[in-house]
Amino acid sequence: MSLGKLPEKFRKLDLQQRQEQVRLTFNPEQEEWQAVAADSGLSDLADIMVESAIGSLPVPLGIATGFLIDGEKLSIPMAVEEPSVIAAASYAAKILNQGGGLSTWGGQSLMTAQIFLEGAAPEGEHQLRRREEQIGTLVDRIQPGMKARGGGFRGFELSRLPESDILVVGLRIDVRDAMGANALNTAAEGVKSEIESLSGGRAVMCILSNAARERRSGARFSLPVSKLSAAAAAGMEAEEVARRIVLASRIAEEDEQRAITHNKGIMNGISALVLATLNDTRAVEAAAHAWAARSGRYQPLSTYRLRGGSAESVGEQLLEGTIELPLAVGSLGGAVGFHPASRLALRVLGFPGAQRLARIAAAVGLAQNFAAVLALVTGGIQRGHMKYHAARLAYAAGARGKEVRRVAEAVANEGQYSPEAAAGILRRLRREGKA
Ligand code: NAD
Repeated sequence: MSLGKLPEKFRKLDLQQRQEQVRLTFNPEQEEWQAVAADSGLSDLADIMVESAIGSLPVPLGIATGFLIDGEKLSIPMAVEEPSVIAAASYAAKILNQGGGLSTWGGQSLMTAQIFLEGAAPEGEHQLRRREEQIGTLVDRIQPGMKARGGGFRGFELSRLPESDILVVGLRIDVRDAMGANALNTAAEGVKSEIESLSGGRAVMCILSNAARERRSGARFSLPVSKLSAAAAAGMEAEEVARRIVLASRIAEEDEQRAITHNKGIMNGISALVLATLNDTRAVEAAAHAWAARSGRYQPLSTYRLRGGSAESVGEQLLEGTIELPLAVGSLGGAVGFHPASRLALRVLGFPGAQRLARIAAAVGLAQNFAAVLALVTGGIQRGHMKYHAARLAYAAGARGKEVRRVAEAVANEGQYSPEAAAGILRRLRREGKA
């Protein structure tokens, strides 16, 4: 067997055989192999979750602390490989708590499944339009559990694609605490033949839309400007920090290139939480970016503005941050609540329902973005990032345990961000017995 080539029957092998093949073929180092396949229980779990599994990827998991969301104190589990994300989220929460934290809103768990019909004449379309109730009864019969839980069919929408003349049937379904992809696909496939015979068309395909436009959640905060003084860089007034945050918001509204990175900063928080709960990160990300571009121009998902003072802070301006986006996340279903790592994340959050989880995600996204914008308009983000870079250099140089921090501090103090410098510092500290 040539190196780098797995046998064609790879996916048909059992887990142990697949692992053996990977070891033989790629000859991984002990550390690499341990990182993904050391825990046989997790590998067994991966094996029933995905095809051709060989193990699990241990993405760093941390907890951002100190969030106050709708008056509830919360810790946020976050799975992310980027160094500064969790620290920044906790930092933002601490600042925003001085203004009462974040408040949120959200709608129902409404999703749409699409059935694409070709050859459906206008009479067929008309016939279908009159049978909404019949279709609804059928959808709810396919998934009686959803209806019993207060969810289920919520109507349909018919539209024509102008170029292909395809008739699109959009089934709107309340999926309650599920993300709903499987539930919707099952419903759509289940009613497909009925819809075909009512419309006289032929279904080309049917699947949920990840747009989730009716499943939006939002968050806002209102912070007296003076509370920004501790966050201000040396020589910068709190008012100037606030003015720059608002200006940064307007820049993102005007400049698409910046809006993309602005939103990436939001997704740093949202995707980390979505991944920690083992929700569908791709679905959430696709929906978020489509929503950002809904006007035809890619826009920031969050905005910041200054407003006049409140009753408690007469005369003082308030910095207000707002976010809203589609968030199709479940508190059960798929891997959510099934994989023990997901259950741990849900436990940390106090086992929220799907709508609550979505609102928490919106709040985390806003806080994450606030931390990034705040850093950008004051000292810049590199200062924080370099700290983590130094820690990685120390680790790569061989530092372990407490040594990592000591070497990283020395790397940062000396401004020597290179592997050689980190190795030299480690040797020196060990020699001096200070490591
Ligand atoms: P699922 O198939 O596990 O369905 C949820 C289950 O939970 C249903 O059986 C439902 O009856 C049950 N349930 C129990 N209590 C419930 C409650 N309170 N509210 C709602 N349902 C309750 O999961 P799903 O959410 O339908 O689908 C999610 C999965 O589908 C994810 O793994 C996702 O990655 C995957 N998927 C996604 C896409 C996509 O395009 N995004 C496409 C296909 C599959």
